[in-house]
Amino acid sequence: MEDSLKILFATAEVAPLISTGGLADVAAALPKALHHAGHDVRLILPFYQNLPRLPESCRRGMCLAHLGTHTAYGCLWETTLPDTDIPLYLVEHENYFGRPAPYGDGNHEYEDNAERFCFFSHAALDGIAGIGWRPDVVHCHDWPTAPIPLSLKSTFAHHPFWEGVPSLYTIHNLAYQGRYGAEKMANTGFGPELFSPQCLEYHGDMNLMKGAIVSADQISTVSPRYAREIQTLGYGEGLDGILRNRRDDLRGILNGADYTLWNPATDPHIPANYDREDLAGKATCKRAFQKKLGLPKADVPLFGIVSRLVWQKGIDLVMESVLKLPEGVAQIVVLGTGDRDIEKALKHLETQRPKDVRVLLDFNVPVAHQLQAACDFFLMPSRYEPCGLSQFYSFAYGSIPIVRRSGGLADTVADCNPVNLKRGLANGLSFVPLTSYSLSRRMLQAVALYDDKPAFERVQATGMALDFSWGRSCDAYIKLYRECTKVA
Ligand code: ADP
Repeated sequence: MEDSLKILFATAEVAPLISTGGLADVAAALPKALHHAGHDVRLILPFYQNLPRLPESCRRGMCLAHLGTHTAYGCLWETTLPDTDIPLYLVEHENYFGRPAPYGDGNHEYEDNAERFCFFSHAALDGIAGIGWRPDVVHCHDWPTAPIPLSLKSTFAHHPFWEGVPSLYTIHNLAYQGRYGAEKMANTGFGPELFSPQCLEYHGDMNLMKGAIVSADQISTVSPRYAREIQTLGYGEGLDGILRNRRDDLRGILNGADYTLWNPATDPHIPANYDREDLAGKATCKRAFQKKLGLPKADVPLFGIVSRLVWQKGIDLVMESVLKLPEGVAQIVVLGTGDRDIEKALKHLETQRPKDVRVLLDFNVPVAHQLQAACDFFLMPSRYEPCGLSQFYSFAYGSIPIVRRSGGLADTVADCNPVNLKRGLANGLSFVPLTSYSLSRRMLQAVALYDDKPAFERVQATGMALDFSWGRSCDAYIKLYRECTKVA
C-alpha cells in the first residue's frame, strides 16, 4: 500500500453535530471512509453554540486570526467525531459562533458571515500549526471554508509550518458563493491587492468562492455531470468562465451513501425493518406513517419529499403538480424547512387537499428515515442538483425516485423508458423540462406503475440492488489528494 496521507478536512457542517443539508452527511461519511482506508484524517469545525460542551482537558490552546481591522482570538478544542476515533478540532469564538444557527436566522444570513468564516479559516490554520500536526493536504468545502485555499497561497504562503501544503476545494453547491459588498474586504484578513478581477473581486463585490477556485491546487465537485454543467452559462452561476479556465484541475466525484446510517434492515428509526428479499416491513412502515399523520389507510402510492424548502428544489412544481392530480389517487408528504413563502404555500396546499397532503415543517432525522421507508416514490424535481443524497437513500429503502434530470440525479437515476426497462436498468422516473406539466405526467405514470405490481417491483428491486457506498468515491479522492501533493 502507498503511504498513508494526513488530511485536514475543514468544514462548516458535519453530521450528526450540525447539519443543514448534504454537506454535513459528506463531511462525516468521507472522513470515515478515509479513516477506514488507513489515512490520518482530522476535521476542523466552528464550535457552534449547540454543540455538546467539552471538559477543560479537551482545550488545546489559543488560535488567532488577523482580520485587517483587528486581531480576533479564539480557542482550539479537540474531541472526536461521534462514534469514531477520528480527531475533531473545534474553533471556539463566543461572538462569532455562540449563535443559534450556523449561517443565519430564518431567511436572513448573519450580516457578518464573511468575517465569521474568514476568522474560522485563518484561525483554523493558526490553531493546527499550534498543535504541530502538519497535513499533506487541506480539503475545503463550499464558501465557508473558501478562504483557506487563498490563505495558503497568500497569508500563509511563506509560513514556516504551512508553506507548500496544497488544498483541494470541493464545490457542493455553486449557488452559495459567499458574495458580499466590497466594504466587507476590510474584515477578511486579505489585503486589498487580492481584491482584483484575478482573485476575489467579482463585479465590484467580494466573492470568497471565486478566491478558492483561482487558488486551490485542485477543484472537485460532487458528480461528473455537475462538473460539466457548472462550466456552462446555464448552470455556472456567473463563475463558469473561471471554472472553464481551471477545467484541467476540475473533477466530478460522485458522493456516496453511508449505509451504516441508511439501511432499512438495521435502521433504528423505523417501525419495522426490511430488506430487498423481504419487503413486508416496508408495508408496515407505510401503514404506521399514514396512521401517525392521520392519512387515510388507502392503497394509493405515497410520494415523499425530504428537503430544504428552497427555490433550487422545485417545490413550486410539486405544488402545481399535486393540484393537477385527481383527488384521492395519491398521498404526498413533505418534510422540510426553509423559505418562509414556500413553507406557507405548502401549508396552504395541505388545507386544499386535506385527505392527500401532509406538510411537516421540521428538520427531523428520524422522521426523514420514516418517510423514506414509508413512501413508494420520492420526489426530487430540482432545478439543479450537484449530487443529491436522498435518491441514494430512496434506492436503499425501495422508494422509487422521481427526479429532474440534472447533475448527480442524471448520473444516478435511470428513467423507466423502454430501453432502460428492456435492459433491466430502470430504477426511477426522470424528466427534463422544468414544468409542472412534465412532473405531473411523471407522477401519473408513477400512479400507473404502482398499480402494475410486477413492473413496480422490478424497478424497485433494480434500485435496491444498487451500491453507492463510499469506497469508490473515497479511492477517487485519495487519488486527487496525491495529485495535489505532487503539484504543490
Ligand atoms: P442539499 O445538500 O442540497 O440539502 P442533498 O440531497 O444533497 O441536498 O442532502 C439532503 C440531506 O439533508 C439528506 O440527508 C436529507 O435527508 C437531509 N434533510 C434535508 N431536509 C431535512 C429535514 N427537514 N429533516 C431531516 N433531514 C433533512
